[in-house]
Amino acid sequence: MMQVIQHSSERLRTALVSSRQDLTALYQKYSRDERRLMEEGLRPDSTLFSPISLHSDSDWITSHPEAPQDFQSFYTDPYRSIPVKGRETVYIQTIGSFGGADALTEQYLGWLRDYCEAFYYGLLVKLLDPVTVAATGCAFRINDNTHNLQMHAGDLLNFLEKRKPKDAFCIVGITMIDLYPKDSWNFVFGQASLTEGMGVFSFARYDDNFYTRSYKGRLQKGKKMRQGDYTAFTGYYTPPITGILLLRSCKTLTHEIGHIFGIKHCQWLQCVMQGSNHLEESDRRPLDLCPVCLRKLQSALKFKMADRYRALLQWMEPGLPSNEPHSSPESVAHSAKPTQAFEDSRQWLQKCLGVLGD
Ligand SMILES: [Zn+2]
Ligand SMILES: [Zn+2]
Repeated sequence: MMQVIQHSSERLRTALVSSRQDLTALYQKYSRDERRLMEEGLRPDSTLFSPISLHSDSDWITSHPEAPQDFQSFYTDPYRSIPVKGRETVYIQTIGSFGGADALTEQYLGWLRDYCEAFYYGLLVKLLDPVTVAATGCAFRINDNTHNLQMHAGDLLNFLEKRKPKDAFCIVGITMIDLYPKDSWNFVFGQASLTEGMGVFSFARYDDNFYTRSYKGRLQKGKKMRQGDYTAFTGYYTPPITGILLLRSCKTLTHEIGHIFGIKHCQWLQCVMQGSNHLEESDRRPLDLCPVCLRKLQSALKFKMADRYRALLQWMEPGLPSNEPHSSPESVAHSAKPTQAFEDSRQWLQKCLGVLGD
C-alpha cells in the first residue's frame, strides 16, 4: 500500500496564507523572496516540498485521524507558547550516561545543542549539567518483553519541573535509557507537558540493534530490581554515537520542541512535524519544516528565513570544527562532525537559499 495525500494548491494556500484579512496582510509583509519560497510548497511540481505519502496502516495519519492545523488555527490558539523577553532559552538536560564520559559524548551534545540553536533561530539553547538517574529519584523497571531498563517518564517530568530555570522557554530532558509512561504500557519514546513547557525524550530505540536479540541493553531474565537502588544504571549500555544517531536525535528534539511552541502534527506536506508511529516512519520524515509550519515558527521567532537556513547549512558543512563551548583550543581528541547522514538536507538548504536569492 502506498497512498499520497495530495492537497489542492488552493487548500494549501489557505493553510499557509489564511482567509482572514489581518493574517493575509501579515503574510504580505514577508519579502518577495520569502513568499516565493513558501509558495514553492503550493506547486505540485515543486522539487523542494513534496506531498506526504502513506506506506502502511500503521502510519501516523491513518491511525490518528484529526483535523489538520493550518496557520490560522495555530496563530489564534490561546494555549500556544511564545518565547517572550527574559524567557528565550531552551534548556537541555541529559539524564543518565551518554555513551561514556568521553570527548565524543561531550561533542555529540554540543552538536545537538548547536543544531537546535540553528533550527530555533533566535533562541538560546543551553546544556544543563548532566544528572545521574539516581539524582532524579525516578521509578524504574525491567521491560518484560525486551528485558531492558526503563525509567518512569512522569517522574522525570516532575524532576525537570524543579530544575527549570527562571529564564527558560522550555526544558527538555534527553536520555539514552528507554522510558515507560505507566505500568500497563510497553514503552514510550517521550512525554511532554506543553503547558509547563517541558518534555523528556529517549533515544534508546534509535539504536540500530534495539529490536535484535544481540541488543546489549538486555539484562538477565529474572534479575530482581529494588526501587531506590540505582546500581543497575551504573555502566549500563547506551547506543554508540554515530551519524545516524545524531540525525535521528536532531530530528526528534526539534520535532518535540516544535510541539512546545504549539505546532501540531503536520498533515500538509512532508515535514519534520509529521507524526510518526515507528522508527521507519520517523526516518522517512525530512529534517526541516514545510512552508505552513515554517510560517508558524517564523511568526513566533521573527527570524529572516535566509538567516535560519544559512545557520543550518553552516552547521552541516563537513570538516568544520564544532563551536561547542567546552572544547579547548589545544584539544586534539575532537573528531569531525559526522554529517554524511545530513547530505540530502544540506543540498536542500542550498536550493532554498537559492530561491531566497542568496
Ligand atoms: Zn510529535
Ligand atoms: Zn509542516
